[in-house]
Amino acid sequence: MKLVNQQLIKNTNLKLLYNSVFHNRGISRADLARRTGLSRTAVSALVDELEESGFLRDTGSLANGPGTGRKVGRKPNCLELCAGNYYVLSFGWEAESVQVHLADISGAGFRHEEIVRGSSDSYIRLCRDWLDERLASSSFAKGQLLGICFILPAMLDPTQRTAFSTAVRLEYDGGGEGVFSCLAEAFPEYAVAVLNDTACAAYAEKVYTGITEKDFAFIRFDRGIGAALFIQDRLLGDACASHTQFGHFSISSDGPACACGNRGCLEMLLREDRLQERLPHKDMPLTYESLGQSALYGDTDSIRAIRDMAFEFSVALANLVCLVHPSLIVLGGRIRRLGPLFLEEVRAALTERSFHKMTDTLRLRYSILDSNACYNGAMKYFFDRHYQFTADMEHTFFIG
Ligand SMILES: [Zn+2]
Repeated sequence: MKLVNQQLIKNTNLKLLYNSVFHNRGISRADLARRTGLSRTAVSALVDELEESGFLRDTGSLANGPGTGRKVGRKPNCLELCAGNYYVLSFGWEAESVQVHLADISGAGFRHEEIVRGSSDSYIRLCRDWLDERLASSSFAKGQLLGICFILPAMLDPTQRTAFSTAVRLEYDGGGEGVFSCLAEAFPEYAVAVLNDTACAAYAEKVYTGITEKDFAFIRFDRGIGAALFIQDRLLGDACASHTQFGHFSISSDGPACACGNRGCLEMLLREDRLQERLPHKDMPLTYESLGQSALYGDTDSIRAIRDMAFEFSVALANLVCLVHPSLIVLGGRIRRLGPLFLEEVRAALTERSFHKMTDTLRLRYSILDSNACYNGAMKYFFDRHYQFTADMEHTFFIG
């Protein structure tokens, strides 16, 4: 037990040091010790280990090479992350495709591909075949993969070991009850994590846009509407999306019936593929983008539609604020294409009709990341939450 604890502490410290370099490129060992509170001896030993295993490199030796007047033997101390050594592979399951994303853990880049999926293709088979082909062609080596993430637009239940999704059909992959064991069987030699897509996008927002608020909500409009909540700096319910189904927050008890069993859910009112019902006389298929554009150039029907949507959304947001009191709410996904008017109207409606004490200091903004955010977020989440430097990661399986 003592050995296990020591391993855990060591893993925590190695990760702390790696992430400190991630956020402070070029930092010295002495600064690392100051920032982390670890002793300089401990920092030195652990950094040496990270250098030997190819996670960190010391660039000081280049800057302070021969002729720079430094004494021979003095340890250079300018640390950088190694690029090109370790990756996290993510497979994003969508209705008609699998998005493949191989991300360098140093943030130095990624490769992204799409596998087209036929209606009776098994997701797991497609992913396994892709991986085997790339390994056979030496695109990368097995040892370079710290883990594989499967990103599903689904509620994941780690206790019952089930997945529930209305966006992807799992019938060729063991169904909602069997998908986790099928994945574990298909990728036994890897560390595997199954993560919810909105949670991964939220994590990316937190890490890559430098969010410092400990309580923040990320709401994503994609095929549906999902939310991830950070409460006191911790992702509520991990990356499972089982604690919050914000898209099924009902704002109208006599609204349209939803597949979830309720009526007037946000998804039924605000989803992109339901915009046409607001403006049935418009010829073009309506999207958030076309509606936002029309409003921008003064189309009064579009402006009214956006105001109505903002009001409906603010009803749900005001309740969310009363429940968890976030200091920041970020709207991600396609909703951004509605443009500034939607955001302004939501703010105005919240100011008018909410618990002022809780919304006075609330910040509301659109996400500033792109569509790859979810995959880069998955990479970082997997590394931060599940990867262990000090343990054999083969045959490990994580839900959320
Ligand atoms: Zn619903």
